[in-house]
Amino acid sequence: MIRPEAPVLLEIRDLHASVADQPILHGVNLTIRAGEIHAVMGRNGSGKSTLSKLLAGHPAYTVTGGSVSYRGDDLLALAPELRARRGVFLGFQYPVEIPGVSNLEFLRVATNGRRLEQGAEELDTFAFEDLVRERLAVVQMDPAFLERSVNEGFSGGEKKRNEILQMALLDPLVAILDETDSGLDIDALRIVAGGVNQLATPDNATLLITHYQRLLDVITPDYVHVMAAGRILRTGGKELALELEDRGYDWVDAELAALAPAPVEVG
Ligand code: ADP
Ligand code: MG
Repeated sequence: MIRPEAPVLLEIRDLHASVADQPILHGVNLTIRAGEIHAVMGRNGSGKSTLSKLLAGHPAYTVTGGSVSYRGDDLLALAPELRARRGVFLGFQYPVEIPGVSNLEFLRVATNGRRLEQGAEELDTFAFEDLVRERLAVVQMDPAFLERSVNEGFSGGEKKRNEILQMALLDPLVAILDETDSGLDIDALRIVAGGVNQLATPDNATLLITHYQRLLDVITPDYVHVMAAGRILRTGGKELALELEDRGYDWVDAELAALAPAPVEVG
């Protein structure tokens, strides 16, 4: 929902970043207000995951220019765990397995970290079980997954559901979902997308990275951005995603070539 008067949650200005001394982002600009759903699309290697991991505070990514403010504070100055506690959530494209760490305990500790920041009381094991069972319904997930190690041996789709379960518990203000739809069958996609819709409120915002219109058939984005060669090349409404499905990305090369100075396409 676009409301020009809604508070700005995330403001990315001319962001440049490198990984392993390789420049990847070449000036990303993006403003996200409360209540909005943004979709970022683009070819493989255009920098979408780099942007999402950088926002979450992944140490492999070095900011070489520009700024990111989160609710008026310098996001880049905050440690990753502080970003998470303050409400920045990243659903990973490739969720990691953490053998030996109980999924339930992991979720409880993370949720309590977030709740403390929100001024809510910490939940003991029993109170948390009640909450988690209620939130499992959002992703229609079997409670048996709580008893296992975090993501260990989960199928691709189960890992993605587990990411949305985390989101449902952490109550983020800015949720970045990196290809949460990839690897899901049609039923799982509807469940995950329905979960994202349920969790979207006028106070929070969602940044969806996706290749597929089928996700955007269920979650209607307010803005669609096309990323190419480490920048946002074009922004439009939900119709832009349909146009992309129709036309593909060939036009991107022509637009990139017209930019001066020409960026080096990486990857
Ligand atoms: P997307 O998510 O849009 O597919 P990525 O952000 O994952 O793109 O990758 C952008 C570019 O950065 C790619 O060329 C990729 O190979 C490169 N890259 C990402 N991570 C690393 C890394 N750790 N070391 C070297 N290159 C990387
Ligand atoms: Mg990616």
